[in-house]
Amino acid sequence: MRLPGRPVMRDFSRGTAHLSVNTATLRKQLTLPGIVEACAARGIPAICPWRDQVAAAGLDATARQIKDAGLVLSGYCRGGFFTAADAAGLKAALEDNRRAIDEAATLGAPCLVLVVGALPGALQGTPAYTDMRLARSQVVDGIAASLDYAKAAKMPLAIEPLHPMQAADRACVNTLEQALDICDALDPERTGALGVALDTYHVWWDPKLEAQIARAGKQRLTAYHICDWLNPTRDLLNDRGMMGDGVIELKKIRGWVEAVGYTGFAEVEIFSDRWWSLSAGEVLDTCIARYQTVA
Ligand code: ZN
Repeated sequence: MRLPGRPVMRDFSRGTAHLSVNTATLRKQLTLPGIVEACAARGIPAICPWRDQVAAAGLDATARQIKDAGLVLSGYCRGGFFTAADAAGLKAALEDNRRAIDEAATLGAPCLVLVVGALPGALQGTPAYTDMRLARSQVVDGIAASLDYAKAAKMPLAIEPLHPMQAADRACVNTLEQALDICDALDPERTGALGVALDTYHVWWDPKLEAQIARAGKQRLTAYHICDWLNPTRDLLNDRGMMGDGVIELKKIRGWVEAVGYTGFAEVEIFSDRWWSLSAGEVLDTCIARYQTVA
């Protein structure tokens, strides 16, 4: 029975209507054309491709193949990495983000996902500086400087807060609240040009998660990524779990997301040495089964 004031969640138990696969999930097994084919063959209606995979397959050829296969995108990965040690680096980052916006538009993506960057050089092993406040201000400046271009291209930007374990090397935006503060500062009118990509792997632990999802609302919730947090976790990057194998309350979080009106895809994004070692077919079949039962 439906309780008053509590919206009914979408039924994922049959079919794959709201399932998307982030193509990094199969990056070790298949090229992008192979991933598109494998998803289409299983009735998976959407993917979120990565720039390097698109570059390898060719932008126009990829756009054509996706269209011909009848698939749509749930996002495009990824822009961001706005921080830099000097003015030339900051400028290069902005130029690269404009290229990413153009690619996303060519592919018909609903948003460009932003992994915003952190201490410049940290990903390569040697941070050029350690001033987190500076990194965060460079990120805000970088998004601000990209927003008009994104608006002109009608390409929403989706800030993805990353788990704090990646604050040094990948993203110094680490909570949904922090991402939404940036959205409110740069897009107070809620034009739809700036939102968030909510990845359960990064935010599941946050005591403010439910309240911040409510604050985001439908308009700011641009993408929803799922996988699971394994206990124990052996690797900070490549040990994500399949939905149902870890401790994330996926249905509860989806309930919060859908309570504010989110109607988009649940995008499976699993970086995992374990799942990369299995066949693409086995991974996709498991994604579908878990999507239908635990997501
Ligand atoms: Zn994600």
